Amino acid sequence: MLVTRFAPSPTGWLHLGHAFAALFAADEARRSGGRFLLRMEDIDSTRSKPEYEAAIYEDLHWLGLQWEEPVRKQSDHFADYRTALKKLESLDVLYPCFCTRREIQDEIARAGQAPHGPEGPVYPGTCKKLGRNETETRIAEGRDYALRLDLTKAMVLAGCNLHWEDLSHGKFIADPSALGDVVLARKDTPTSYHLAVVVDDAAQGITLVTRGEDLLPATHLHRVLQQLLGLPVPIWKHHRLITDETGKRLAKRDDARSLRTLRELGWTPERVRDELGKLPS
Ligand code: GLU
Repeated sequence: MLVTRFAPSPTGWLHLGHAFAALFAADEARRSGGRFLLRMEDIDSTRSKPEYEAAIYEDLHWLGLQWEEPVRKQSDHFADYRTALKKLESLDVLYPCFCTRREIQDEIARAGQAPHGPEGPVYPGTCKKLGRNETETRIAEGRDYALRLDLTKAMVLAGCNLHWEDLSHGKFIADPSALGDVVLARKDTPTSYHLAVVVDDAAQGITLVTRGEDLLPATHLHRVLQQLLGLPVPIWKHHRLITDETGKRLAKRDDARSLRTLRELGWTPERVRDELGKLPS
């Protein structure tokens, strides 16, 4: 049976782009008699707010959507992410990184240029060169660190012939090199978007991952993580992004386009669907 999900972060009001993503996932499930699930991506405890979570339920109900309870909240599942991290640690594909954002920028400036991935400049690998003693000393000193994936080692283990399929974009061979050594956890948060999304999609039994095209490059990495963690492999369907008249992507700070504002202005759920259909793709 087909299982889809909508996975918003409760860090702001939902806008038309979210409405599109939610309706897209729910429609996929409905068309094939499948299940539609919801997930709160609330690992960022400083930006996630209960009022935003409540507003998400309100907006989605208003749009006419229904989902299964209980909703999976990432903040309830840190133990699952720790287990996944342990597994990756046992494969020796993680390393602690002590660099601040500033230090990374400086290092890149010194090197003259750095490959620019879909999520910004690729990490130059500074902390991969630290010896074991230095790493342990810094951890013992209580320094902040993130755990990064050693992509070279990960790819050796995962194999270079990993496939994944997108129903709109076709078949791919997993090649996450454009992302580099991504952060998979931080000292105080045992996960990051990339780790949580693969663990959660597996835990929720998602068979079709639908989301915006901006995340297509990340799927290469997710396929590798699934392989390393021995998780089932879903199919993907990345959809177009909703933009404003000038072609700019909608952002959470564009309050004028939040669903709650549109509702106050008298929009109906039917109007939302109509307008989404009319927007350029
Ligand atoms: N929380 C992510 C977002 O809002 C969801 C990404 C995904 O569906 O994998 O973009």
